[in-house]
Amino acid sequence: MPAPRSVLIEGATIVTVDPRRRVIEGGSVLVKEGRIAEVSRTRSPSGSGAELKIQAKGMALIPGLVDTHMHLAQSLLRGCADDLSLVDWLKKRVWPIQAAFTEEDGRVSAELSMLEMMKSGTTAFVGVDVVSRYGFDGIAQSVAKAGMRGALAKSIMDSPGYGRRGRIMPEGLVEEKGATIREAKLMARKWNGVKDGLVRAWVAPRSLGGCSRELYEEVADLAQKENTRVTMHLAEVREDVRYAKQNFGLTPFEFIRKVGLAGPRSLFAHMVWLSESDVRSAGRTRSNVSHCPSSNTKLASGFAKVPELLEAGANVGLGCDGAPSNNSYDMIREMKLAAVIHKARLLDPLTMPAGTVLEMATINGARAMGLEEEVGSIEVGKKADLVLVDLRKPHLVPYREVVSSLVYAAMGSDVDTVLVDGRVVVRRGNALTLDEEKILGEAQRRQDGLISRSGVKV
Ligand SMILES: [Zn+2]
Repeated sequence: MPAPRSVLIEGATIVTVDPRRRVIEGGSVLVKEGRIAEVSRTRSPSGSGAELKIQAKGMALIPGLVDTHMHLAQSLLRGCADDLSLVDWLKKRVWPIQAAFTEEDGRVSAELSMLEMMKSGTTAFVGVDVVSRYGFDGIAQSVAKAGMRGALAKSIMDSPGYGRRGRIMPEGLVEEKGATIREAKLMARKWNGVKDGLVRAWVAPRSLGGCSRELYEEVADLAQKENTRVTMHLAEVREDVRYAKQNFGLTPFEFIRKVGLAGPRSLFAHMVWLSESDVRSAGRTRSNVSHCPSSNTKLASGFAKVPELLEAGANVGLGCDGAPSNNSYDMIREMKLAAVIHKARLLDPLTMPAGTVLEMATINGARAMGLEEEVGSIEVGKKADLVLVDLRKPHLVPYREVVSSLVYAAMGSDVDTVLVDGRVVVRRGNALTLDEEKILGEAQRRQDGLISRSGVKV
């Protein structure tokens, strides 16, 4: 279905996240040729001839949410790896099942993840650790079909280890250094900017212990030459600090800075185990951080110093991580957790107010993807990545302050309509670009197959 040439959304409470953070009651937004043409406080006279008109009284219109760290190949593992520590979680469940993936599993898992994301208001995402066996091309085609804004980060490695534990990765996931770099280059050239820029190809060096020092340096060089971006898990668990100290005499973030990977074109997920000097350094280098509060609490990785990182000047977005660590891809629920856990950690109810958390889920996420000029807020000239959240629900009525309702009380299932690049991908809660019934049926069948092929006991 092609995008309508013009869309008028009328009557919503518009949460712009613009530089003045304006909230407009009962205003209207006009979209023309995929871009926001008008944001007004009243009815739009110039929108009267719009091809599609959406009456949105009783709804909040927000910028599309940006998930800055998620695993497309993990939604098929939902419910397969609960109540385990990170290394056992990887070694006993996640990796053996992923090592049994076929390219069809990779495609179905990606489509299931995108179905959940778009229906809960996510319009853009960074899909990390795409391994060759999941089928990069098939996944990229699915992103284009779904019409989401997705950066696919090709996994890069030269050692099957994690931290100080050598060779714990199963054979089916191991990639040889030359091949992994070659494919990353090929994918960047083939997919970066495809479908009017919706699809991007990034590089994702594996966690400490999965790449040699030389390989990290090579990744920094490759990202520069291919004009692409880098994302990786960093300082997620205490083991990462022990490994980096033992092998390099540095903290994980000091090491990454030394190999030339810190900075505004890199996005680091988790960043839980940082020294005070690492926090300052992440701010000084204007590095991007993906905060994943569900994953960090479920896997007991610890509490990232998010208010401190923001204060230091780092750009912090939000991420759902994966189905085995979260167990959902619902950015609205993720916002609530991000808002509440730091209050308890710092014994300070004023820290991480709702407005800050909404910024993390929108404009900060866009900046982490290098897209802050294009998306992340509702402003004239930006691309129309827009979400309508239905506020007429028992858990959302009455409301006074819409941002607080969105962060503390809403759920992904309150999302009514989603536009990406001006194209309607969800309407009245139904996905229009993906076949929901087919994906749900296939997902259940494929998980059964994966568990039996991998021999994992769940
Ligand atoms: Zn992750």
